[in-house]
Amino acid sequence: MDGYVRSKIVCTIGPASRRPDILKEMAAAGMDVARVNLSHGSFDDHRKTIRAIRSLGNVAILVDLPGPKIRIGELKEPVQLKQGDSVRFTTENVVGEGLTLPVNYDRLPAEVRPGGHIFINDGLIELDIIKVDADFKGFEAKVVSGGEASSHKGVNVPGASLSIHPPTEQDVKGIEFGVQVGADWFAASFIRSKKDVEAVKQAINEADGDQPVISKIEHGEAITNIDEIIDASDGVMVARGDLGIEVPPWDIPLLQKKIITKCYEIGRPVIVATQMLESMVENPRPTRAEASDVANAILDGADAVMLSEETATGAHPIEAVRVMENISRVVESGGALRKAQRPREGQPIPEIIGSLASQAVESVKPAAIFTVTRSGFTTLMVSKYRPSARILAVVREAKISRRTRLYWGVEPLDVQWSDDRDELIIRAVNRALKDGVIREPDIIMIVSGSTLEAPGRTSTLEILRVRDILYHAGRKD
Ligand code: PGA
Ligand code: MN
Repeated sequence: MDGYVRSKIVCTIGPASRRPDILKEMAAAGMDVARVNLSHGSFDDHRKTIRAIRSLGNVAILVDLPGPKIRIGELKEPVQLKQGDSVRFTTENVVGEGLTLPVNYDRLPAEVRPGGHIFINDGLIELDIIKVDADFKGFEAKVVSGGEASSHKGVNVPGASLSIHPPTEQDVKGIEFGVQVGADWFAASFIRSKKDVEAVKQAINEADGDQPVISKIEHGEAITNIDEIIDASDGVMVARGDLGIEVPPWDIPLLQKKIITKCYEIGRPVIVATQMLESMVENPRPTRAEASDVANAILDGADAVMLSEETATGAHPIEAVRVMENISRVVESGGALRKAQRPREGQPIPEIIGSLASQAVESVKPAAIFTVTRSGFTTLMVSKYRPSARILAVVREAKISRRTRLYWGVEPLDVQWSDDRDELIIRAVNRALKDGVIREPDIIMIVSGSTLEAPGRTSTLEILRVRDILYHAGRKD
């Protein structure tokens, strides 16, 4: 294989990385998608960050909506919870003090059960729920495993069926913001069913947006409804942070593999997220276990791997991207990547063509596969079959071109669109030559619509010599 890295890298942008010069270096190191997490920071800060990311060119922007995440309210000061302590959770609007902890979700007391567990601060503190107040304004819980609780820490109640669903009011504001700043993707937190995905899409629609939605799988109910969720979504994130509290951490490895396999089979981009290079928040080098984790996500068939704290607040944001890029490069060149199966009977034509392209690559060894498409669907279908040649996206709109940066192996090509198919291909070939992606003696493959058809329908796979295309173009002039 060439030096081109096919796996995509999503980087969470925060105080450690939002400076334009750092962003620039992260992009050069291999960042494909910048994730702006609306759970933290102000819209004003995010707007500035997004402006800086935009100036990098075609790095895609993923706006992550907080979803119905339960949090501790304001505490007077951090509190050390010790095993055996009796803690009062209250929904009253008070500043927490001592063993009284306010929570931001009014219906929580009515929706928990005595005997259930509740976790605070990324699952570090565990409590048993003992007794719910008769007026449902609070409940009592006993600390099983202690630690420090402080303002705004996340709360998880595994097994509780909460009546709050995405999009929350805050999500709707986030969607309006994201549409306004031109987000390329939305990620929706705590999705539990297909209905949740549809409701988020509806809210995007109502805000006059058309962004695709990545469902974050981080709740037990999402695991139960995984098929319908993947089907209804444009992409999926294995959000191991919250998922690893909602289900035990030892369930994560197999769940990750199952979710990736399902996404892979139906052709949805899938991101593996959280704690991938966690120790790099402090250290300049990853642990061996972390390097293996990133490698295994790629071998499982993920389209993308994600950095969270490592790039948002860590001490080595650029180095973390480099490490991920290096792991990806080495793993991909090892040749053990998954191959998608053959398409089933009755699959859409672009999918059949995508599969044929991937098979042909093995005998043709083209320098690149040019995918000519308006919606990006054909590009996704070629990516789905994991060809060993690089995939170039030739699309009409810049926003679609940026979306394709999340797809495995895909690189958008900066070409001025033309409705004349041949003209467009000549432009694309010239662009790729200039960018050094292909050379004159190379063979390339082109997946596009036939000139005999309405534009936008993919039906042809061509195998051509670059030199012949150039000769033909010369004659045409
Ligand atoms: P978060 O999502 O960082 O927004 O919580 C990712 C996760 O839970 O893994
Ligand atoms: Mn989460």
